[in-house]
Amino acid sequence: MTVALVTGATGQDGSYLVERLLSEGVEVHGLVRAEDLDGPLPEGLVVHEVDLGTDPGVLADLVDRVGPDELYNLGGLSSVARSWDDPLLTTRVNGLAALTLMDAARRLQERRGREVRVLQPSSAEIFGEPATSPQDELTPIRPVSPYGASKAFAHHVAGVERSRGLFTATVILYNHESPRRPTTFVTRKITSTVAAIAAGRADRLTLGNLDARRDWGWAPDYVDAMVRATRHDAPGDYVVATGRAHSVRDFVAAAFEHAGVTDWEPLVEVHSDFIRPADPSLLVGDATVARERLGWSPTVTFEDLVGRMVDAEGSRS
Ligand code: GDP
Repeated sequence: MTVALVTGATGQDGSYLVERLLSEGVEVHGLVRAEDLDGPLPEGLVVHEVDLGTDPGVLADLVDRVGPDELYNLGGLSSVARSWDDPLLTTRVNGLAALTLMDAARRLQERRGREVRVLQPSSAEIFGEPATSPQDELTPIRPVSPYGASKAFAHHVAGVERSRGLFTATVILYNHESPRRPTTFVTRKITSTVAAIAAGRADRLTLGNLDARRDWGWAPDYVDAMVRATRHDAPGDYVVATGRAHSVRDFVAAAFEHAGVTDWEPLVEVHSDFIRPADPSLLVGDATVARERLGWSPTVTFEDLVGRMVDAEGSRS
């Protein structure tokens, strides 16, 4: 039986991945933080209460004890906005923990003589303010946020460990959303507020940069790319994106339209609190390599994504 270790098992991507692996009959071990134990956890998940920011020795011990065939490092601080407030913690959790896990995985593999495969999710933020669009696997890595720098470090570590004999796959993920996104991300902030406005429970949507353009996809599609990359014949790096960019303003318009709210422009205001010290103006990815080598392609359009997220708000209230 395949044994998988998933960090960030209760996050957006982790929860979709755990559900998928359990449905395949994989023995799934998940790292969760103490505060996640209060919420619902999938039946069958073997829970380990360990924080990625913990002592590296504790993380390495856990890898040894679980002895995974597949290690998906989905935990970490995922909010670019928050990484400006705590760059040290961001680096410890997104960067050093990734190094610790990959180092432990390679040592385990050498000791027991059986392959361990590691999936490291990178991020479009490693490209910073890219000079060219769309970006692909050869775009220079030049992050402009603490989050991007921490993910770039982990991305490079994956390359180093690969050269030392560990199967590491990286997926350079563009923004990927779902009803499970926290409201710290602009998409869920928009859909939750638009739903509240439509229900008469709110009267204003306050945002930062409305002109930023992002390539937004459907999170379960991106989890599918992770599994394909981990199980492919050879290790590799893959941009995972839809190839289509929309502005924050486009997302706002589509959400109000889907909720049936007309004349919404006066309800939207911009506040400097939500404007970042540096913010890529256009991130859009070219997923040709993932398509050709992994047979991956996105299944949900931008309009469907917005519609699904707005509809899910309705079923919450
Ligand atoms: P990110 O691309 O991983 O940082 O994902 P986010 O959803 O946090 O942000 C996407 C874009 O939306 C960025 O360019 C933000 O600057 C922009 N944005 C505009 N207003 C807001 C806001 O109120 N909250 C957040 N999180 N982002 C905002």
